[in-house]
Amino acid sequence: MEIKNRIILALDLQTIEEAMKVAGCVREHIDTIKIGYPLVLAEGLKSISIVKEEFDCKVIADFKVADIPETNTKIADLTFKAGADALIVHGFVGEDSVKACVDSSQKFDREIFLLTEMSHPGASRFLQIAAEEIASMGVDMGLKNYVAPSTKLNRLNKIRSIVGEDSFIISPGVGVQGGDPNQTLKFANAIIVGRSIYSSDNPEKAIKSIINDIKF
Ligand code: C5P
Repeated sequence: MEIKNRIILALDLQTIEEAMKVAGCVREHIDTIKIGYPLVLAEGLKSISIVKEEFDCKVIADFKVADIPETNTKIADLTFKAGADALIVHGFVGEDSVKACVDSSQKFDREIFLLTEMSHPGASRFLQIAAEEIASMGVDMGLKNYVAPSTKLNRLNKIRSIVGEDSFIISPGVGVQGGDPNQTLKFANAIIVGRSIYSSDNPEKAIKSIINDIKF
């Protein structure tokens, strides 16, 4: 996936109006937006098509899908039917559950991102233990897209070493959670940034400052 300026905007707002306002402020600088539960539970799956149509952008649906294969198929089918270009899927649920989402993505000619490890402190207790195995499973399954944390650079580096240089890693946790854009982009292909942009008084200034700091 090509991502302009290597930045994905995490649009975790809870009304379409606020989401459109923030995305409108930064539209020149991005072409990929991540939409997750906050916006979709508040405003519905239609949020995906509304954002795509208004900003002519790619949408990654961050539903961290983690159910049995049959349910994962339903979730993935509905998400792709709603227009998402890609779907984030948890790896800890195992190969059959992930494969259900892969099959759905192939049916709709879309993509999935395999979530290996999360960016918050609590992830160290359970998910970190499994993360390398999850990444290896993704490699065995032939997957090319991964999510790994910017807040734990040693972990991000480790995941990169497992999935290989030709895989595409997107990395959340930059900004408010403590991740640094340049350090992260040594190992990841793109960063995911939410609050540092949408909670700023001036979202455009905030994104420009991140772009200026990035050493392309
Ligand atoms: O506001 P902030 O920049 O911390 O947002 C990070 C975004 O990335 C949120 O949407 C969060 O749900 C998501 N995310 C994460 N860690 C992961 C996967 C997704 O922080 N491992």
